[in-house]
Amino acid sequence: MATDRDDAAMTGWRALADLVLPRTCAGCGLPGALLCAGCRRWLAVPRLAQPRRHPDGFPPTVAAGGYAGPVRPAVLAFKEHGRAELAGPLGAALALAVVAVLSALPGDPPGPGPAEARPVLLVPVPSSVAAVQRRGRDHVRELARVAAAELRTAGLPARSAPLLGRRRGTRDSAGLDATARRANLAGRFVCRPARGGPFLGAVLVIVDDVVSSGATLAEAARTLGGLPRPAGAPPVLAAVVAATPRRAEGRKPPQGPGVITVRGGIGT
Ligand SMILES: [Zn+2]
Repeated sequence: MATDRDDAAMTGWRALADLVLPRTCAGCGLPGALLCAGCRRWLAVPRLAQPRRHPDGFPPTVAAGGYAGPVRPAVLAFKEHGRAELAGPLGAALALAVVAVLSALPGDPPGPGPAEARPVLLVPVPSSVAAVQRRGRDHVRELARVAAAELRTAGLPARSAPLLGRRRGTRDSAGLDATARRANLAGRFVCRPARGGPFLGAVLVIVDDVVSSGATLAEAARTLGGLPRPAGAPPVLAAVVAATPRRAEGRKPPQGPGVITVRGGIGT
């Protein structure tokens, strides 16, 4: 776990890197910004994500944009190529998706007020131990922390809550055939005891970088559904930075509210 000293050292390093390394947009490669205004527009129209083969237990999920165009290289740069500073713009996009999915809740959505009133807990989908070791960080946790901070700035009582863990012996589904993937997903997650305060009446929003088939979010929602929550507790929701669209979609930025029909199959 990163300490304040680690964070300070990293901030200093980034400031130095900004001085000596040219900053280019992770989406389109133009110099000047981490993610330029044109590329951010791809992540500015939150949309309901609906997998083609709707997995049992798939929660209501909003994506900030399609996993297409400049979004794809930007997410990959953040996730796989060490551009951790992209947690800023991608976390802000995730916060937008969280706000949109909260608006689907019946009754009054959580709003400004004391944090204990109706907290919104962002529950990151945990990466495998091997993936965290390979990347040297848990990028979804980083997104959850940034998104929660954005939401608090906007007056929502939100915080990141890593309530899910990985069961030992499971691994990423990449490279597995459909049958093996299904078996690998079943029972993949476990609930961790709540840390840092009550959560039983909270709004739980699972967060991840990308949704594709929806199988991972469905499994995460099923696992959180096992928590002892009071009758009338809000349903488990999900929000992601981007949803993998079908091939015919995603060739241009979305123009308005809509639905992303995400790719079928069993994957992440
Ligand atoms: Zn750009």
